[in-house]
Amino acid sequence: TVKTRFAPSPTGFLHVGGARTALYSWLFAKHMDGEFVLRIEDTDLERSTQEAIDAILEGMEWLGLDWDEGPYYQTKRFDRYNQLIDQLLAEDKAYKCYCPKLLLEELREEQMAAGLKPRYDAKHPKVVAANAAATEDSPFVIRFRNPKEGTVVFDDKVRGHIEIANSELDDLIIRRTDGSPTYNFCVVVDDWDMGITQVVRGEDHINNTPRQINIYDALGAPVPEFAHCAMILGDDGTKLSKRHGAVSVMQYRDEGYLPQALLNYLVRLGWSHGDQEIFSMEEMIKLFSLGSISKSPSAFNTDKLLWLNNHYIKTAEPEYVAKYLQWHLDQKGIDTANGPAITDVIKLVGERCNTLIELAEQSRYFYQDFSEFEAGAAKKHLRPVAKDALALALAKVEALAEWTTENLHKVIAETCEELEVGMGKVGMPLRVAVTGQGQSPSVDAVMMMVGKERVIARINMALA
Ligand code: GLU
Repeated sequence: TVKTRFAPSPTGFLHVGGARTALYSWLFAKHMDGEFVLRIEDTDLERSTQEAIDAILEGMEWLGLDWDEGPYYQTKRFDRYNQLIDQLLAEDKAYKCYCPKLLLEELREEQMAAGLKPRYDAKHPKVVAANAAATEDSPFVIRFRNPKEGTVVFDDKVRGHIEIANSELDDLIIRRTDGSPTYNFCVVVDDWDMGITQVVRGEDHINNTPRQINIYDALGAPVPEFAHCAMILGDDGTKLSKRHGAVSVMQYRDEGYLPQALLNYLVRLGWSHGDQEIFSMEEMIKLFSLGSISKSPSAFNTDKLLWLNNHYIKTAEPEYVAKYLQWHLDQKGIDTANGPAITDVIKLVGERCNTLIELAEQSRYFYQDFSEFEAGAAKKHLRPVAKDALALALAKVEALAEWTTENLHKVIAETCEELEVGMGKVGMPLRVAVTGQGQSPSVDAVMMMVGKERVIARINMALA
């Protein structure tokens, strides 16, 4: 059965590039009725932090990318890596290298000065001499003995046929001087031990793949399939980074996006199914394939993400939107215990909002009283001439036996008729009085949801 994984290094938050990789890997597993593994690649002890681990887990949970196994932690598997490193040493497929860092740097500079690609050269006389001079307690690293001949061949599910000559690859360090195993080794051991069948990851790892394939072969492990996804670029064509704005998944939550909108945005960012733009999770799972991932980089487009966000605020189940809106209402200290159901507010106001922050702001007057009207709107619509309209509407509102949108609509219509004025002359002052602002959905529906007691108090405040 198919088993995929997402294997972030916990050196920072979950960014949109990582989230997209995770999504593709997760979708492929679901599509194939397989399993998805989360693995934290924390072997770089200096750069890995608990804070980053928490941020990654939080991001995955917020997106709803659940895992069937894990999270595994590489730092808990050092015994296993060392066991296999010892095995490779015993089989002479790996060796101790005592060559001091300083000498490596010197050789590296020489190679670069000569216009050569810097690489470790075990046969260099200075390296041979350094190794010969080493004693039992000299520091050493362990290197993988990469085959000298032949080529590494693989069929990348995205990039197609790839061939690299072994003469291009040098003897990779698999264990550092401090005894910690390195990424390229651990990733192979883990993907093997965990039974990963497809490795979906960023294109920045494609140069590691041939080296890793040689390690699989040395260990006698089956080689998984690979799919390397192209980079995500900012709107200026350079690699997406902080300077383009939000890149952390949790920042998108903070800015008022629905996870479903971000997921839909990310799935289309480098994958397509005809020209379809909107995908439910079920559709994504049903239609996703590694072969339809784009080879070329994709540019991030915030306007399109906003458009999708508005689409989902409008069309998703109000209960779904409410779950995420609640968080923003809490952030703003808007207590919804006293007032209409949040789902009703979403149905009424949602379509006007691109983000949940806007929606939270536009929900405020349903739950919170205010002591001032928006200055511009008040100046325009609460002038003395509007007082007659407000006073008459108030009397009719107070007399209403049944609090329905239809009756409130009648209140407004009758007020207009009796005063012989247009709708705007009654509706606008009422809107400003009841919401405190100049814009809102249909004022009868708004009054209905604000509730009789509050509507009366607010009209009185406008008349004062
Ligand atoms: N830990 C690596 C990273 O975060 C990913 C390795 C992989 O997917 O093979 O870049």
